[in-house]
Amino acid sequence: MEKVIIIGGGISGLVAGVYAQKAGFETEIYEKNTVVGGECTGWDREGYYIDNCIHWLMGTTPGTDLNKIWSDSGALDGVKILTSDKMYTSELNGEKLTLWKDIDRTEKEMVELSPEDEIEIRNLMKNCRSARKVQIPARTPAEQMKIGDLLRMTFTMGTALKMFKVYKGMDTQDLMNRFQHPLIRCTISDFCTKESLAHSFPMSYGNYVSGDGGIPQGGSRAMAQRIRKRFEDLGGKVFAPASVEKIVLNDAGKAIGITLSDGRLIHGDYFVAACDTDYTFSHLLDRERMDDVLREAYEHPEAYPVYGMFQVAFAVDSDVDMLNGEIMMESSQVRFADFVSPRITVKNFNYEPSFAPAGKQILQVMLGMTDEGWKYWSELNRDKEAYRARKMEIAGNILKMLEEKYPPYQGKMKILDVWTPVTYHRYCNAYKGYNQAYTITKQSRQQVYPSPFVKGVDNVIIAGQWMSAPGGLPGAAIQGKYSIQRILKKCGRKTEI
Ligand SMILES: Cc1cc2nc3c(=O)[nH]c(=O)nc-3n(C[C@H](O)[C@H](O)[C@H](O)COP(=O)(O)OP(=O)(O)OC[C@H]3O[C@@H](n4cnc5c(N)ncnc54)[C@H](O)[C@@H]3O)c2cc1C
Repeated sequence: MEKVIIIGGGISGLVAGVYAQKAGFETEIYEKNTVVGGECTGWDREGYYIDNCIHWLMGTTPGTDLNKIWSDSGALDGVKILTSDKMYTSELNGEKLTLWKDIDRTEKEMVELSPEDEIEIRNLMKNCRSARKVQIPARTPAEQMKIGDLLRMTFTMGTALKMFKVYKGMDTQDLMNRFQHPLIRCTISDFCTKESLAHSFPMSYGNYVSGDGGIPQGGSRAMAQRIRKRFEDLGGKVFAPASVEKIVLNDAGKAIGITLSDGRLIHGDYFVAACDTDYTFSHLLDRERMDDVLREAYEHPEAYPVYGMFQVAFAVDSDVDMLNGEIMMESSQVRFADFVSPRITVKNFNYEPSFAPAGKQILQVMLGMTDEGWKYWSELNRDKEAYRARKMEIAGNILKMLEEKYPPYQGKMKILDVWTPVTYHRYCNAYKGYNQAYTITKQSRQQVYPSPFVKGVDNVIIAGQWMSAPGGLPGAAIQGKYSIQRILKKCGRKTEI
């Protein structure tokens, strides 16, 4: 039996593992941390559970190709999909605007808020409604598609193609500029960065309105554990913690094994690098083997930006819900540098009572940053005490701001944990500590995904979210599945799995 070695037990690596076992390979996953899941994780603090990842999981609607991946991999096994009546609420200058699942209600409230924007609002909502039908292709890798697959994709992606045309050459900033009301402009950019292409907002909100984008009960860590279980039930083996240092090539340029940080050499026939691609091409393989599209993204960060986040989890000794979901608001009081977004996201997890002790709740706050934030925090981290002190100072300011804003929380909030891009870099080897892949912008010369094949090495496939910018769980899972279809093709076997 041929052996597939997977480097990285994040969602991409775990999903790849499940499909490799289903395809009859002997499969081993090597993960540097004790717990699998990568960025799709969570951790316990003082009786609370801090969920790191899933705010929104595309593919929870049965019947789609993406849902089949989640169901094949056991991701949604035996759990309820939690849904909400709203995507999020944006707040500015005392006014609020909510993106409801009921798009008619959103449209009505937007027009009431800003009658002068009515024409643009109606156009935008029309495009969001069209986007409800779009399904992410998740069945066959592009290079393996036959005429039937292409026709099928044109059918499921037809609306998206139309939308790409409507918003051609525009980014989210251009879309925002079509509106006069500052709160509508904010609401659009609270979810999609200003540099992202303009179709990002209608596609995302359209997907949400379609009823997709639920949250699997139990959160991110539990979902990763269910995929691990499916993999192990199928006979796969997980080695964790096991940090991979190198992919070993023979003189003919064929990969023959991996070396681990404890010096062991593990042999294999095929290899899937499902960890961060910058790490892969800086440590596991030579940089010159990197695909040109990916290289272009790393060499021109201004045209392919990555971001970062400063995050705090607070315990609240009260079950009074002052947020009612996820709220994006101004952050001038706590904005600690120009590279920090002027808006923050505040979220509670009241839809998951098990995340906090009875009668209490957990709040999480996110401050977005450009990649200058990475520079700032990684330099500060050279002095561990200064890094810790600065984190706590900023978290303390956020606590003060929230207690002032929500008087019932006065004196009842406590900092549980604070983390920065340095955390994701340390934990997952994530490039600049970002939790997704680069963003394709108007300035990007390459508007296609990078190649998953490695120059001069035939039996290594690259998976992970960086293969489908801007990343996220769906891209990670799809690339995990595709990596095994690519190996099957190389083996001359049937690639449908
Ligand atoms: C705060 C936050 C919120 C998010 N919200 C959402 C959301 O709502 N919806 C959504 O779709 N996505 C969301 N994401 C993004 C999502 O978590 C990621 O896109 C996804 O988990 C990436 O999966 P991956 O397998 O490609 O990469 P990773 O999760 O980075 O997995 C790579 C794995 O490789 C391991 N590794 C690295 N180097 C080595 C080595 N040398 N040896 C062995 N193992 C190694 C790492 O430890 C890691 O486990 C969020 C992320 C964060 C952090």
